[in-house]
Amino acid sequence: MSNRWMAARLQGYPPSVFAEMSALAKARGAVNLGQGFPDFEGPEIVKQAARAAISEHHNQYAISAGEPELRRAIADHAQRFYGQAVDPDHEVTVTSGCSEAIWCAAFAFINPGDEVILFEPAFDTYVPNIRMAGGVPVPVTLRPPDFRPDPDELRAAFGPKTRLILVNTPHNPTGTVLNPAELSLIAELCQEFDVLAITDEVYEHIIFGDARHRRLAQWPGMAERTLTMSSAGKSFSLTGWKIGWTIGPEALQSAIRRIHQFTVFASVTPMQYAIAAALRLPDGYFAELRAAYQARRDFLLEALAATGLTARSPEGAYFILAGIERFPFDHADDFCRYLVTEIGVAAIPPATFYIHQAEGKQLVRFTFCKRWETLEAAAERLVRLRA
Ligand code: GLN
Repeated sequence: MSNRWMAARLQGYPPSVFAEMSALAKARGAVNLGQGFPDFEGPEIVKQAARAAISEHHNQYAISAGEPELRRAIADHAQRFYGQAVDPDHEVTVTSGCSEAIWCAAFAFINPGDEVILFEPAFDTYVPNIRMAGGVPVPVTLRPPDFRPDPDELRAAFGPKTRLILVNTPHNPTGTVLNPAELSLIAELCQEFDVLAITDEVYEHIIFGDARHRRLAQWPGMAERTLTMSSAGKSFSLTGWKIGWTIGPEALQSAIRRIHQFTVFASVTPMQYAIAAALRLPDGYFAELRAAYQARRDFLLEALAATGLTARSPEGAYFILAGIERFPFDHADDFCRYLVTEIGVAAIPPATFYIHQAEGKQLVRFTFCKRWETLEAAAERLVRLRA
């Protein structure tokens, strides 16, 4: 796809696989377990808060760093769930989704030639963001069946040029939730090599069984060198609202705020008020969200296992990364094309999540952030898929 007007920095990046698979699913009448967006509504009380904010004249530019009401709610949420003390005035910046926060971090902290460590598979914006900012991505591959970081490979990734590590837990697409030993190793290496940590924690409330979400920022020595990022989309099933945030020390926030003012300047004002209300929902809301997703995870796992796909139970997030090694397809792209056209189910081939493309060619991502009837329709169709 060459285009003489397109800047060189964009050549070589095809359109997002998520949009492509959603369009294909629609065209084929397939059940869409590809793009990770809920096909059900977020809480009515939060939608009502958005309507009220619009009626109450919260419709002009927000304060660039975020409306104080939302920044307070973000700080209180951090205190409630993690015992993390956050100063809402100086240690929080509101962004247009976590994706904007990560883009801002790339441009706020990376100098040309800096190395940035990330776990692959990595969410599809990370590598282009790093490269556009002039950074050099250094992937540490999470491999099946466990998709956990190998401590030696992680250590070997750090060096004198390492500027930053981008950590995503719970992890999209593997479902890995980093445990204390893994977070301790990351914390130790960040300090040994004087590295900044950015954490993408957008699935913080979608965790299963005994898994617990922990913040790297709370490890000894890490508060001053970590920016914790999250968003409302996944926790409140409102992915289209695009409200995210970063939490971290003032010195890092000032860099983020500087770049944020040159991008979107401020995020959508009424939605900030609504998300402030959402973050104050009672504990029961978050427990129900977890339970609802855990039941869906178990249902989809069983449906996938019956086909002969090898699927590990994810500890968090709302994806299952399944292996196609028992199927006669060399590449997940071909498998996904067959699946959407012949079986009527859309999934995501995760090549876009990899620098080392070969590592992902036998893996396919399914999402379970869907209504029961959607999952049941998918399961009915998957019966026709046999290894
Ligand atoms: N985060 C979602 C996913 O992984 C949606 C990504 C997107 O559409 N950009 O599917």
